[in-house]
Amino acid sequence: MTLQQGLDAAAGRQAVDNVPDGAVPPDYPRVRDLGGGVLQIDTGHLGNPGTIAVFALPLPGGGFALVESGPGSTRAAVSAGLHEAGLEPRDLRCVLLTHIHLDHAAAAGAFLEGTDAKLVVHEAGAPHMIDPSRLMASALRVYGDALTKLWGTMLPVPAERVLAVAGGERLDVGGLSVRVIATPGHASHHVSYLLDDGTLFTGDSAGVRLGGADLLRPALPPPDLDLETWQGSIERMVAAAPERLVLTHFGQVDGRHAAAAHLRSTTERNREWSEAVLTGMNAGEDAAALVARVQRLEDAELAAAGVLPGIRLRYKITSDAAMTVAGLKRYFTRLHPERLTRA
Ligand SMILES: [Zn+2]
Repeated sequence: MTLQQGLDAAAGRQAVDNVPDGAVPPDYPRVRDLGGGVLQIDTGHLGNPGTIAVFALPLPGGGFALVESGPGSTRAAVSAGLHEAGLEPRDLRCVLLTHIHLDHAAAAGAFLEGTDAKLVVHEAGAPHMIDPSRLMASALRVYGDALTKLWGTMLPVPAERVLAVAGGERLDVGGLSVRVIATPGHASHHVSYLLDDGTLFTGDSAGVRLGGADLLRPALPPPDLDLETWQGSIERMVAAAPERLVLTHFGQVDGRHAAAAHLRSTTERNREWSEAVLTGMNAGEDAAALVARVQRLEDAELAAAGVLPGIRLRYKITSDAAMTVAGLKRYFTRLHPERLTRA
């Protein structure tokens, strides 16, 4: 999300769904039962429903777990969703984070307060959850005064409550068996979580696909985007043969066939967008021209896919073009200087 988009959204100026005659408007319940013991809670971030989800899993041993925590700024909305789902926030037993980007992780410390819950996070992300000061300082450089409004504050998590993972573990979360799959690429410390029924929580490792639309948008941010590493993650996820994917942005891709097709197309979509930016870099385009190039590409894709105007805006704020350009420029410069024909 760019600063201006964040401020516009915070001021309530986000586009409303402009639904053409005959089209079915999407509905955005705060709580949606995805079946199989997964409750999707919409953070409604900055008045934009259907962009950032948190998932509550009632546990066989009592209480519940969360997959993701959402931003600090939507904690109250998620708590309201938990109440609506018949869950008490103080009965939280565990928060499983896919990675520590603020839209996924910022509220974790606040949810853990007043509970005995544990936090599961990749070992490279754990130090930043225990002491978020460096993470918040770098976010402050990006978002400035809008930081608190956009993402809220991030409370430190006591070290003894943190279970650091690296991928490959099988966890017993209150009687629920959860397999951790290492899925770096979007971030070097990204993991995904697989339940025994084949439900795979993908965080951002399977890109962005919003409700009411059939378009997979790449999620390619700095600083540690790595497409080769990401491809290995896709192969691990395909090998796990998930029965459904559950995307933080936003909702489920149901069925073994659809899940496999979505994972394969994540690779393809990452390649298409990265090649577009590489072409611009090698044509000598500056950052503004590269952003314009990505915006043209996304506009053409959104139009071709027949995505409704209000949802088009949500795609853009969920994975912003400037962020995409910054991520890919850094990726090519750092990892593939041989592909750059201009120094
Ligand atoms: Zn995200």
